[in-house]
Amino acid sequence: MKTTTQNQASSVNRMYCNFFGHQYTMSKKVTEHIKEYTCKCCKKQLTTNANGKLTDLTPTYQEINSVLERIYQVRVSRLKQARPQFSY
Ligand SMILES: [Zn+2]
Repeated sequence: MKTTTQNQASSVNRMYCNFFGHQYTMSKKVTEHIKEYTCKCCKKQLTTNANGKLTDLTPTYQEINSVLERIYQVRVSRLKQARPQFSY
């Protein structure tokens, strides 16, 4: 019963989004250029793809993003550790 109500609510939200447009907020920063967005109305998720365009966050993209995120985190932590060297 509870599930049915929730499903109905989300379909109403989706109708609202179809009419007024989604209200995306950034839900995760994967890398400097790749971010994930969630619609605060219907919870639809988008991500930036390799071309810098927004696309549906499919399970494939979720996997890609988690790999990219790990690489990015390693790179960021290395940059923080690295000290500038002035060798003239
Ligand atoms: Zn929406």
